[in-house]
Amino acid sequence: MRTADQSIKELKEEARKMSTLMTDVVLGVISPKVCNAACRASAKRVKEIATKDYKARQRGSRYLVSIPKPGAVPPGMVVVHNHIRPRRHLGWQGFRAWLQSPDDPPALVVCPCRWAPELGGHYRVKRSGLEKCHGSVPYVSPEELIECRKDPAWEARHDMIDRIVCRECGALLKSSNSGMAKKHTGHLWRRHRMTFKEYKLTHPGAPLYTLQLNAIRSQSKVKDLITKRVNAFLTPDELAACRKNPTWEQDHGLDVVVCRVCGAKLKKILCGGGYHLTQHGMGLKEYRAEYPNAPWRTAGTTARHRQGMIETRARRTAKLAAADRILAANWRPEDWDQRPQWHALGDKLLSC
Ligand SMILES: [Zn+2]
Ligand SMILES: [Zn+2]
Ligand SMILES: [Zn+2]
Repeated sequence: MRTADQSIKELKEEARKMSTLMTDVVLGVISPKVCNAACRASAKRVKEIATKDYKARQRGSRYLVSIPKPGAVPPGMVVVHNHIRPRRHLGWQGFRAWLQSPDDPPALVVCPCRWAPELGGHYRVKRSGLEKCHGSVPYVSPEELIECRKDPAWEARHDMIDRIVCRECGALLKSSNSGMAKKHTGHLWRRHRMTFKEYKLTHPGAPLYTLQLNAIRSQSKVKDLITKRVNAFLTPDELAACRKNPTWEQDHGLDVVVCRVCGAKLKKILCGGGYHLTQHGMGLKEYRAEYPNAPWRTAGTTARHRQGMIETRARRTAKLAAADRILAANWRPEDWDQRPQWHALGDKLLSC
């Protein structure tokens, strides 16, 4: 086994030889040509020593040199990586992975990232709360990411105004205007090869813009927007209850209709052209198949709709009756008196 001391000793020896050569050239003992050749040979030897030293250190290291093949991980061990942005090339810019028993310290958690999918799952060191990693991009902890995926208003509930969480990897992105949605340059495309539409379908209701940016655009107060967003979505627990209960809105005395997919509270209706369900790539038919008996419009909207129908019908009847009266007054067929079965309907006279 090669040690670091051995490498240092050899390098010092090379340096001593070189300084002797230089002195000899200055004193005229050897020609510069001979010195040049000797220098090249020396540089080659230094490189060899450095390579040997690096390989020896790799062999002795606890870190993996490459991603292990599926099945090559010893039983009882798992692959763990550190907090640096994951990449295929191990050792690159401080990204390291190693094998460890899950019961040994440090404590591990299942990593939600998509590094090395062929392993079928890997771990990372458990972190507490929001922590910096990947250089300047902070991430939420895996537990928070799971919570966050269930709740579209997670940021508003945690008063996070200048960041949004990527529901795919848990990255806390700053201005989503340039960081998230832009095709080919935004986070979604660069990190997950996902379009804006695919992201919305996978994570219904997830925000794409920070509350701060929304406040600037709509020229309103951030506090108001937070309240609005918190009130616009059910909490994950409420949503779970709501999915099981078709009369949830009625039971809670709310004149809204809750989208059972994302938990949004809507004031009028779920379906129709340009309406809410199209965001989830669904029609009313699919929605009702998935959530049978769930309402698709508010009680108020239903009542208004019924009232409108009644009024329209009444108006039509009145119009027909008026036309009837006009016809009856103005015109009769010649044999009207002989045929009492004639009567007027709308603008037509019928006999039966
Ligand atoms: Zn990972
Ligand atoms: Zn992401
Ligand atoms: Zn929805």
